Amino acid sequence: MSACYKSCVQKHPITLIFFLLIFIFPVTTEANPKKMRFHMQQKTIVIDPGHGGYEKGGEGPDGTFEKTVTLKFARVLAEELGRTYKTILTRTDDYWVDIPTRSATANHVDADMFISIHTGGSFLHQAGGTSLYYYKITSKSTLTLDPDSSKEFKNDDTEVSWANIQNRHQQNSKILAESVRDRIGRQTQYKPDIQGAPLMVLEGADMPAILIEIGYITNPVDEKSLHDIDELTKIAKEMRNGIDDFFEKFQ
Ligand SMILES: [Zn+2]
Repeated sequence: MSACYKSCVQKHPITLIFFLLIFIFPVTTEANPKKMRFHMQQKTIVIDPGHGGYEKGGEGPDGTFEKTVTLKFARVLAEELGRTYKTILTRTDDYWVDIPTRSATANHVDADMFISIHTGGSFLHQAGGTSLYYYKITSKSTLTLDPDSSKEFKNDDTEVSWANIQNRHQQNSKILAESVRDRIGRQTQYKPDIQGAPLMVLEGADMPAILIEIGYITNPVDEKSLHDIDELTKIAKEMRNGIDDFFEKFQ
């Protein structure tokens, strides 16, 4: 550096300007730097009710479809969050919305957060509780397949898509999942677990994004409580608290 400085910069003032510019305006390889700042006035949260239309998702022992529960809960959550935030649903009725359109909706409105709602499903009827996911590319050996295909996983054998913009928000998305878990964990009998997974619905979201499974539709007890508006409201309130906690961490 010093040799270069003496030989280049001292002799050529224009080179000095070049050096200064490099330090003042560092070259970035990302088109859009990490978005750590959120909207100050009113934050926008996009809520994505999983499935819809012909894509019913999981089915409970009593015949409840996941797509019905996700929309019902999304409405409850929107009402709860609507006290503080602007909320937008990726679907407002029983119709299918393709996976990339869901996160694209959030990108289009420059949302501060994206939350995809699902229920868990398992062949084991005793499996239950709440789970939280954030986007993470995992090795094939650790990739778990969803038994009811309620979530669409990216195949790790394929090359990483340029579109998986969620990578840059991975850390914040994990913090968001933890904030929500810490609140929900106080209220429910299950301590929600958090997993990183290559979820397609999250990969294109250019903001902190999580997927939450609010109980297991295949669990008879969970299926019943997923019909209970009071239970859904309880979860939604704790999610709102967790989301408030999350945004406070960035103030
Ligand atoms: Zn699902």
